[in-house]
Amino acid sequence: MASIKENIELILNELPEGVSLLAAAKTRTAREISEAIKAGITLIGENYLQDTTDTFYDVTEKAEWHFIGHLQRNKVKKAIDLFDMIESVDSFRLAKEIDKHCKTKNKIMPILIEVNSGEENQKTGALPGNLIDIIREISVLKHIKIMGLMTMGPRFGDPEDSRPYFKKTRELFDQVKALSLTNVEMKYLSMGMTNSYKIAIEEGSNVVRIGTKIFGEREMDDH
Ligand SMILES: *Cc1c(COP(=O)(O)O)cnc(C)c1O
Repeated sequence: MASIKENIELILNELPEGVSLLAAAKTRTAREISEAIKAGITLIGENYLQDTTDTFYDVTEKAEWHFIGHLQRNKVKKAIDLFDMIESVDSFRLAKEIDKHCKTKNKIMPILIEVNSGEENQKTGALPGNLIDIIREISVLKHIKIMGLMTMGPRFGDPEDSRPYFKKTRELFDQVKALSLTNVEMKYLSMGMTNSYKIAIEEGSNVVRIGTKIFGEREMDDH
């Protein structure tokens, strides 16, 4: 089996210029995360606050930590201490809570808005039809900076089936960008995972979030 280092080198070598690789680290140990950073990873993604507090302080190598999971409002206070970016904001209520806590700490949190591009009932993320309204609302908050969009998209065996959802998210990205709102700097389009990142890049992604192809199969997602 290839090592974390070899996996990362392989991916980094084939990524086009301007595309960043985020290591999706849910369920991974501090040692695995450290190994990834030493191999050239600069962005770590975490889905759960608890996992993060278990590993965060043991990882001494420097990286930017992004929250990519579903953030509950009662966990926001903790999250803003740990994370450099929250990629999964999907409502004004959540944004307002982040803004409130950032205000007391006198900081500005960069966020991405998560889009439920497949309009799936069980999934988090703003629906495409509501996205512009939500962004307009959030853009008045002074302690938040909207930096782009994130999407998961429906899961398919054949990654080609993901293409329309990436395409749609890219279109939304361009629409929001064209509005030139204050506090909104559309810079990052975070989409694509292990089985779909190549398609996502073709559709304009500039941040790919990869877990399995870096760290190997997850034993069990016990959440
Ligand atoms: C787990 C996860 C990924 C990475 O998934 P892989 O298929 O293991 O590459 C990316 N984004 C989010 C939000 C995730 O939860």
